[in-house]
Amino acid sequence: MSSTENKPTANFIRNIIENDLKEGKNEGKVVTRFPPEPNGFLHIGHAKSICLNFGLATENSGKCNLRFDDTNPIKEEQMYIDAIKEDVTWLGFDWGEREFYASDYFEQLFEFAVNLIKAGKAYVDDLAAEEIRAHRGTLTEPGMESPHRSRSVEENLILFYKMKAGEFKDGEKVLRAKIDMAAANLNFRDPVMYRILHAAHHRTGDAWCIYPMYDWAHGQSDSIESITHSICTLEFEDHRPLYDWFLDNLDIHHPQQIEFARLNLSYTVMSKRKLLQLVEDGHVSGWDDPRMPTLAGLRRRGFTPESLRNFCDIIGLAKRDSMVDVVMLEHCVREHLNKCANRVMAVLRPLKVVIENYPDGQVEELEAINNPEDESAGTRKVPFAKVLYIEQDDFLEDPPRKFFRLGPGREVRLRYAYFITCQSVVKDDAGNVTELRCTYDPESRGGSAPDGRKVKGTLHWVSAAHALEAEVRLYDRLFQTRNPAAEEDFRTCLNPKSLETLTGCKVEPSLKTTKPGSRLQFERLGYFCLDTKDATSEALVFNRTVPLRDSWARMEKQQKNMAGKSS
Ligand code: ATP
Ligand code: MG
Repeated sequence: MSSTENKPTANFIRNIIENDLKEGKNEGKVVTRFPPEPNGFLHIGHAKSICLNFGLATENSGKCNLRFDDTNPIKEEQMYIDAIKEDVTWLGFDWGEREFYASDYFEQLFEFAVNLIKAGKAYVDDLAAEEIRAHRGTLTEPGMESPHRSRSVEENLILFYKMKAGEFKDGEKVLRAKIDMAAANLNFRDPVMYRILHAAHHRTGDAWCIYPMYDWAHGQSDSIESITHSICTLEFEDHRPLYDWFLDNLDIHHPQQIEFARLNLSYTVMSKRKLLQLVEDGHVSGWDDPRMPTLAGLRRRGFTPESLRNFCDIIGLAKRDSMVDVVMLEHCVREHLNKCANRVMAVLRPLKVVIENYPDGQVEELEAINNPEDESAGTRKVPFAKVLYIEQDDFLEDPPRKFFRLGPGREVRLRYAYFITCQSVVKDDAGNVTELRCTYDPESRGGSAPDGRKVKGTLHWVSAAHALEAEVRLYDRLFQTRNPAAEEDFRTCLNPKSLETLTGCKVEPSLKTTKPGSRLQFERLGYFCLDTKDATSEALVFNRTVPLRDSWARMEKQQKNMAGKSS
């Protein structure tokens, strides 16, 4: 289920571009852009758009611009611009010198607007926003023309310059395109091009108090940048005629807008507005909380850029909205980490084991394979001694027959070490098992007995005297329902168990030099990543990226089986 990095999967947009190149359109050039609005962090849906736009450019020796769609001074911040740049770079794409801002075009956009006024195709309206909305009509009813629609070109020009000069208050006037109030497409009913907003902009400061609307700014920015293929998501399909109308009436370079279905992921919300709410309400620790579907969150969680690019490729491109199962994303990261993450041993919920017949004070350095999928990763030494830790749930006092782990009198293999047999159990006053007393078979060093005796279970372990302490954060899905965005309030279906923090975990000593952001497989447990924010040289903090297997699929299967049995 994976594609090779340099041979992307065919899709309808690739076909369109291939055809355009064959027909010699755009002088054989391909110029795309990724146009984020800097009002939030990028999420996995944006990754799909980034991979597509940068991918198409690279494949066709073209260019892809990074353009910040910064036309709304109120919601936009430098912090988001910095985060977006970091995320695009991390994902593996390079915009080179081509970092652009819609705000760089404010002057040009203003001139374009003046041209439309002069051509009698735009007018200044005094109606308030609510009135414009009320006059707009519906899908079945035509709209009503504004009483100011027939202003003369001269009057419109004077008013528009006055708007720019700050002579009116917020909302007092707007500039509208003069198209058709009875058009079937509501976007044609004299859309607003400029609004008055006395607000400082993060780049242009107080230079402007009129700001262009998205539909007006976007296509013209595409044109200014000589974009050939302007790829956007499906909700802009109805806006395409307007996109075309502006370009045609200005008679400037005309990029082709192509829409594709946005990525929706199960058990995830994707709108920046909702993600911001999660941050502001404190449901998560920030935009980079490892449970967030943001690129910053996924990175901190331990996802690799390769796995995200592969995911974006294999989910393909569609012209109709659908939902991709989050299991697919987890599959992609598992598949990549299986190849590149070194294996280590860590015990999350330690249970003490004393090997009674092991010499006091003896330490053996046993050889362990770093990555069975990658021979070049080599081996390391793991210390073995008399007192060890194993996982609490690898022992049962009264185990069923098919429990292949440890129980009284049972024998198991310790990975890379010896066979051990549980001889007795130590309990506290409350009856909890606090320690196992075991014996080992000195002949079984390396994990096999010379008499050919077999054991079914192999457990991971760490030496108590050598282990390092760690905090481990286990993440689960942030939402309990498949489509939280469809709920009246998506916050009601937050998963209360989306984060479990374990302290006092024991990890093998080789992890002492792990760098923040490093990804590892804890044998038998899953993939983990040393946190980039909270880990220090004194305190190891690991985030679980994914368990080794999909526990949700298993749970759902069990539930189905149970339902099947009871009916
Ligand atoms: P949101 O709904 O999350 O606020 P947006 O479309 O308002 O997203 P922008 O910053 O305008 O966010 O998006 C930049 C680009 O990324 C746009 O071209 C947009 O179409 C694309 N994009 C946004 N969300 C998705 C998604 N879920 N799948 C694919 N592309 C997306
Ligand atoms: Mg947008």
